[in-house]
Amino acid sequence: VMKYQNKRVLILGFAKSGASAAKVLTELGAIVTVSDTKDLTVDETALELKAKGVSFTQNQAADVVNGFDILVKNPGIPYTNPVVVAAQAQDMPVISEIELAGQVFSGELIAITGSNGKTTTTTLVTKLLANEREAGVALYAGNIGIPASTRAMNLTEDDTLVIESSSFQLMGTKEFHPHIAVLTNIFSSHLDYHGTRANYVAAKMKITENQNADDFFVVNYDYEELALLAQSSRAQIIPFSRLGKSKLGAYVEDGKMYWQDEYIMDTNEMGVPGDHNVENALAAIAVAKLHGRSTKMIAEILKTFSGVRHRTQFVLEADGRKFYNDSKATDIEATQMALAGFENPVVLLAGGLDRGDTYERLEADLGQHVRAVVLSGQTKEIFAKSAKAAGVEKIIFADDIQAAVPMAWELSQPGDIILLSPAAASWDQYPDFETRGELFIKAVEKLTNKEEI
Ligand code: ADP
Repeated sequence: VMKYQNKRVLILGFAKSGASAAKVLTELGAIVTVSDTKDLTVDETALELKAKGVSFTQNQAADVVNGFDILVKNPGIPYTNPVVVAAQAQDMPVISEIELAGQVFSGELIAITGSNGKTTTTTLVTKLLANEREAGVALYAGNIGIPASTRAMNLTEDDTLVIESSSFQLMGTKEFHPHIAVLTNIFSSHLDYHGTRANYVAAKMKITENQNADDFFVVNYDYEELALLAQSSRAQIIPFSRLGKSKLGAYVEDGKMYWQDEYIMDTNEMGVPGDHNVENALAAIAVAKLHGRSTKMIAEILKTFSGVRHRTQFVLEADGRKFYNDSKATDIEATQMALAGFENPVVLLAGGLDRGDTYERLEADLGQHVRAVVLSGQTKEIFAKSAKAAGVEKIIFADDIQAAVPMAWELSQPGDIILLSPAAASWDQYPDFETRGELFIKAVEKLTNKEEI
């Protein structure tokens, strides 16, 4: 990656991935400037980077790009941003941080995308591939923990890097070339950013764009649309299917998971609940089997996996009630999936940022699984309407998540599930979904005098 030597790079947006790109590019000999509207004069990471020669500006006018060779864009910043528009008008390459990671890394790249299930599947794949060889490691990079480009800098060609790849990140790829690409699903979320569903699908499909016949594209065949889309890939297609639509890869039949002809384990032995997690497991099994991992080891790991923090994460059990933290469920589909994973009655804590969604789509799930709802945040009124239409017995409002927990407890009975799965983003009341989830866990611990397991 000599090509960054003395290149002038502008990094737009100084979040974790921007900081990682700044560090990596500086090490590669680039001359780096970061543009962010935030005042970073006392920011610790920014100060460290300044000491290494990185410049910072709060200017985000279009002309800030003038004189640069490359723009590294934070995934959350839309392509309509004036700086991005100006860069593209000058034919300046606009890339994402995972593109940079792909350029820096010479080992085997595994990339995982989808509307939902990315973090869980990436985590599972990483666990299944860990300790695979004596030389080399398999490492996770993505939303939680260390960004991909920083990871990539510290790895050799013997290593495997498993990258969680959002559609926003994939939009900014050019040479990104995973040996194994995984597509879990495509829902209609994030349309505000991508404009149309076609654009969104196109962004996701970039994961396979540079793949060829030596590579693998692992695709969820339960969605007909994805099975069709997969045909346009040059890679070998490896289907997975919870509904048994294809038996060429990983699939379920009569409650049992298989890889081709080989039995792996029963679905009800999974350490985490829900059909969606069976799908994530199937995707992970496919990748692990492409790597020749043993069935025994795969089953062992899938049985003991207790979930990723904030994703239908089991918190604790008290007086016959089980608490789950699914704060990451920021859209309706995620909450549907979470509810479908439970057979016992659920007391649901929901509500959050109002994006103009209505909740009719959730009514069947509410009617089937939910005993009571405790609602907070901007969407509480509109959510309450659907809960009522669904025939939920008790619908109450709380000011915030801490207040909601004891109220949910009051409404619950032994055997119930008490689930935070908001079906909405957190930004109306919290800085992020992690904060919302942590406050939930603390409130549960306080209420029950127990600690999360
Ligand atoms: P992502 O990283 O894509 O946001 P996560 O693994 O963090 O996905 O899961 C986010 C939420 O989406 C979870 O709380 C769960 O309710 C739901 N979910 C997870 N996996 C799937 C899946 N395969 N299909 C549908 N929903 C899923």
